[in-house]
Amino acid sequence: MAGSTLAYHSTLLGYDTIGYDITPYYKKACGDVLTIRDTTLRLLKATSSERAFVKNFSIRVNGREVSYLSFRSPIWAIMDKSKFVNTLREMAESNGAKIINKKGYPEVRGDSIVVDARGPYAWSLNSSILTYRLVAKASWEPETALIDFNVKRSGLYWVFPIDSDGRIINIGVGLTGVSDGRVLKKLVMRYYERIAKDSLIVIDERGAPIQVYAPVILYSRGVFRIGEAAGLVNRTSGEGNRLAVYSAIALINAINKKFLNIAEILRDYEEGISSIVNEVKTSILMLKFIRLLDPKIAENILEVLPKYFWASWLKAEITFNKLIEILAERSSYELVLGLIRAL
Ligand SMILES: Cc1cc2nc3c(=O)[nH]c(=O)nc-3n(C[C@H](O)[C@H](O)[C@H](O)COP(=O)(O)OP(=O)(O)OC[C@H]3O[C@@H](n4cnc5c(N)ncnc54)[C@H](O)[C@@H]3O)c2cc1C
Repeated sequence: MAGSTLAYHSTLLGYDTIGYDITPYYKKACGDVLTIRDTTLRLLKATSSERAFVKNFSIRVNGREVSYLSFRSPIWAIMDKSKFVNTLREMAESNGAKIINKKGYPEVRGDSIVVDARGPYAWSLNSSILTYRLVAKASWEPETALIDFNVKRSGLYWVFPIDSDGRIINIGVGLTGVSDGRVLKKLVMRYYERIAKDSLIVIDERGAPIQVYAPVILYSRGVFRIGEAAGLVNRTSGEGNRLAVYSAIALINAINKKFLNIAEILRDYEEGISSIVNEVKTSILMLKFIRLLDPKIAENILEVLPKYFWASWLKAEITFNKLIEILAERSSYELVLGLIRAL
């Protein structure tokens, strides 16, 4: 997501661009959600990779629905992610980029700028959790997503429709401490049977790590970092696609200001990505807090969160200030009491 977005935009601006990728064709396990913003919508359209849209959400905690939200218009797009990435690569190549099937990244030389966009693989897998997803034939409510938090394992199950009539779904799970793909697959199959009283016909299955416990680092040892390689993943939702796109665009914008040195590019990049970093750091805080609590107390807190908290969370609008605002609301009285009790 990050590398292809950067390659495409850098060629648009006329930079000589070389991409290294360990695989010639991008195909990665993902929930395929891209939160709708002007930029993400523009790229979805440019790559013709939008598949379905979601505007209804069932939020569950340990299997029990705690909130149901229905927005007037969709807030999530479900994309064909392989198509999104591979089309951006092709567009970059037709603008003159060279994409080489090679591991790693080159040394920094002369006035070249080197960027690490290796996603979760830029880090040790010890700071990640294995996340597994199935694409399956099923019967599902169109435009409706389900997210079910497993408090004890600091993880979640999801079900998203991939097509507009809900006949194909993307269903998956990521749970801290469960690192066997076969176990995760079984859990997903059982989960669907439990909620839909039906079984799945699996079309595709794959797993990949998400760097839930990696730090946020935008530059290290002469190399810029974007996307998950920069630790830009929302730790409470696992969302990384939009963050990858935004970090790539913020970096190319900083580079294109033609500063004289790396420190200035970095400062501009940090500024351009500050709201995303704030969002990620707030999510780190929230995850840490939930993990500190006794699971029963954490469950109680998630259950009393007001609807507008979930609306902000789904729209990816939870910043530190917003979180404080929500906690300060009178209707969150019970929540604040819960937090104080937990502390
Ligand atoms: C099962 C699952 C479900 C998810 N669901 C969602 C979701 O619904 N919404 C969302 O926003 N996020 C989701 N995520 C997270 C999202 O997939 C990632 O955060 C996002 O892909 C990060 O983009 P990226 O460009 O940083 O890295 P990636 O998309 O992982 O790209 C990394 C690239 O680096 C290449 N590479 C790796 N190692 C090397 C190497 N050594 N040398 C050269 N190249 C290398 C890879 O081949 C790949 O092309 C999910 C993740 C998983 C695993």
